[in-house]
Amino acid sequence: MKTEIYRQLDREHHLHPFTDYKALAEEGSRIVTRAEGVYIHDSEGHRILDGMAGLWCVNLGYGREELVEAASEQMRQLPYYNSFFKSTHPPAVKLAETLCRLAPAHMNHVFFTGSGSEANDTVLRMVRRFWALEGKPDKQWIISRENAYHGSTVAGMSLGGMAPMHAQGGPTVPKIAHVRQPYWFGEGRDSEPEAFGRECAAALEARIHELGEENVAAFIAEPVQGAGGAVIPPASYWPAVRDVLARYDILLVVDEVICGFGRLGEWFGSQHYGLEPDLMPVAKGLSSGYLPIGGVLVGDRVADTLIERGGEFFHGFTYSGHPACAAVALKNLELMQAEAIVERVRDDIGPYLAKRWATLGEHPLVGEARSLGMVGALELVADKAAARRFPKSLGVGNLCRDICFDLGLVMRSVGDTMMISPPLVITRDEVDELVRLAGEALDETARRLAG
Ligand code: PLP
Repeated sequence: MKTEIYRQLDREHHLHPFTDYKALAEEGSRIVTRAEGVYIHDSEGHRILDGMAGLWCVNLGYGREELVEAASEQMRQLPYYNSFFKSTHPPAVKLAETLCRLAPAHMNHVFFTGSGSEANDTVLRMVRRFWALEGKPDKQWIISRENAYHGSTVAGMSLGGMAPMHAQGGPTVPKIAHVRQPYWFGEGRDSEPEAFGRECAAALEARIHELGEENVAAFIAEPVQGAGGAVIPPASYWPAVRDVLARYDILLVVDEVICGFGRLGEWFGSQHYGLEPDLMPVAKGLSSGYLPIGGVLVGDRVADTLIERGGEFFHGFTYSGHPACAAVALKNLELMQAEAIVERVRDDIGPYLAKRWATLGEHPLVGEARSLGMVGALELVADKAAARRFPKSLGVGNLCRDICFDLGLVMRSVGDTMMISPPLVITRDEVDELVRLAGEALDETARRLAG
């Protein structure tokens, strides 16, 4: 079918997620037809370096035959069965065991879901249920962070801290509070980064006092905030947060949907920061995005209570632990181990990306270039010396994102923060290409702003 026909049908029938429909109708969609390695190809013959690994998920890159084989083999053997009640099947069991082996030592159980959003719905229900079973039913408040993204279901968007999402579709889930994010460049430059990290932890403690420590069930956060702007916290932040939570016996939920499976150079971002979460929602890189699957890894404290005292947990999804998705996830983890992908990010390609990415910090349009493992961000500024932002109405981030795409690179923008999260298998030459294209996109953005 011709590109224009696809565009027309798309316009007429397809409501895209997170899209301004009128703008899309005017501009038309890009039809992605195939992908290989770190490149996607569109219907007009363009080859584009996918600097976002899809949506932070195609960790092993595109076109891995082993994953295709794992899916088709499993679909021939047992395409579907559920894991409700007393049933189970080999792919779900093997995946659960493998995940728990890779996770921090005290995490020995997993509840499967179809996505990261469903994982966070599960977190919300599990946390409140845990405290009820512990005889503390008032512990219901969950504290999250401003500008966090934890999914698009009602519970996921309520846990998230994105104001435009809260403003659409009626009331959010009650008893969820939000505190400031450790976003030094955006919000903390009156202090030194380490002092700012401690201030953010102190803000969390103040909110706990406000809500009453006896009422606070859990704190949820990503190790490095992804969709909210690739926010890498100052080193002081996580140790201070850990101390606060321990002081008031508040559960720690670390959302590993983006940071899990090697993105920060450890199997889980929690391990990078030495955290011992009670619950870890996962998804995305679990299957390198080849099939949809998520889950919640559950620490012994919560699991023991649910198992010993919980009776039936009235919660689950038709596709919890779906056999084909679980088989692909299992093969994905096997390949990651066989190819030492996590070690490669930590010791080789991550440090290489950091060195190359930092050079973009010298560009007149860039106020800060930061990265950790295979996540990076550029802060676009109008005045480099004063680190002054552009007026929001100019939409400079979106302009730069569109220029990137036209030059052959996918970067994502949130406000005037440009983000990358490439496949973990990206080579050094491809990193060089990514950085070169990002630099050209910055030059072109500056030219258009000047003109
Ligand atoms: N949590 C985080 C940190 C995410 O980045 C996302 C998705 O981007 C989700 C949860 C939701 O995952 P899903 O889109 O699979 O529902």
